[in-house]
Amino acid sequence: MPTRRSFLAAAGLTAAGARAADPPLAPPDRQPPDLVLPDVPARQAKWAVVGLGKLAIEEIMPAFGRARLAKPTALVSGHPDKARRVAAAYGIDPRHIYSYDTFDRMRDDADIDVVYVVLPNSMHAEYTVRALRAGKHVLCEKPMATTVAECRDMIAAGREAGRKLMIAYRLRYEPFNQTVIRLCREKAVGELRTFEASNNQVTPAPNIRLSRALGGGPVQDVGIYCINAARYVTGQEPAEVTAFEHRPRDIARFREVPASVAFQLRFASGVLAHCDCSFDAAESRRYRVHGTDGFLDLDPAFSYRGLRLTVAKPSGREQVSLTEVNHFAAEMDHFSDCVLNGHDPRTPGEEGLADMRVIAAIEEAARTNRAVPLPPADPA
Ligand code: NDP
Repeated sequence: MPTRRSFLAAAGLTAAGARAADPPLAPPDRQPPDLVLPDVPARQAKWAVVGLGKLAIEEIMPAFGRARLAKPTALVSGHPDKARRVAAAYGIDPRHIYSYDTFDRMRDDADIDVVYVVLPNSMHAEYTVRALRAGKHVLCEKPMATTVAECRDMIAAGREAGRKLMIAYRLRYEPFNQTVIRLCREKAVGELRTFEASNNQVTPAPNIRLSRALGGGPVQDVGIYCINAARYVTGQEPAEVTAFEHRPRDIARFREVPASVAFQLRFASGVLAHCDCSFDAAESRRYRVHGTDGFLDLDPAFSYRGLRLTVAKPSGREQVSLTEVNHFAAEMDHFSDCVLNGHDPRTPGEEGLADMRVIAAIEEAARTNRAVPLPPADPA
């Protein structure tokens, strides 16, 4: 039997004669007083996702639910049944499902602003250029393409079409890697001297990553995170590259791509980076930046979630507390903002091209057993 006071409080009423200082017990408006309502963006960019594989289905489509400025409105797939099911799950009108053959018809679809290319690496260049020529802005997954020449063609196609091109370097849109960049620029651990990074995983067959024809390989797939991090942490371009690779051709899944690659980057400032990547080692995704006064350790550094940043000084070590975000939602919101409000993306095609130059140099260094110099500037 409720008391009179609890009955009134539950109804959002205060009993007569109650002392002014008495706080209400149940929320008077029948909702938590600290409830923060979502803001309603005036506009959202409309996105087509191309290639419904593991990344698209497991990470990107769910991430739209966390994005403010991006909404999925179209799909491109070689498997219509799968596409219809994904469309139903995300409220996408099935009239906006395309195949690779009908891809160019997106030109006439006003419900698409942005095309997100999530295809095997060997298909990035073709579908990016076709989407740009169809008048759409493009977010293309990493690695940007398979050759430096393809990267240049993609950048040129964006310029000619007057459309934006961004490469999906999700770590540039999340707070842990952004904090490392800021701490390095502020010289929080002094002058940078060396950088070490590993990105390893076991990749069983079948997988697009094990096919040369599809642009696979450990450097292209996971080593690229080490390359990109070495560049964004130092804010410099490497001047010279050396590399070793292990190709156990008697193991069937490594007939076409190396199992492991170790590479070194020399920067003109004197910073040295040493990195390794593998499709045949247990998951480990980390880097450490060594300065004259301490080091920054991010471990894991390249995973989708659970990143941990430690700052180490001679006086002790501290773990940095940051609120993690959904990487894919953050990068889709960034690009949507660029498209809706006319800004330039933080990781444009030139970023993908810069990494591709390093990848090409690593391949040459491993093949020739020689250090490969990289010219200081590379106009796209
Ligand atoms: P999957 O193999 O899981 O999916 C690729 C999809 O591409 C397929 O499901 C298929 O979709 C489509 N496709 C079209 N032609 C082919 C073909 N000839 N062979 C295989 N697939 C084809 O790859 P992922 O989703 O793991 O990777 C896709 C891209 O995303 C890669 O470039 C990869 O580097 C990148 N990636 C980026 C990550 C990041 O963190 N940024 C993480 C993981 C991957 P459909 O059936 O719909 O046509």
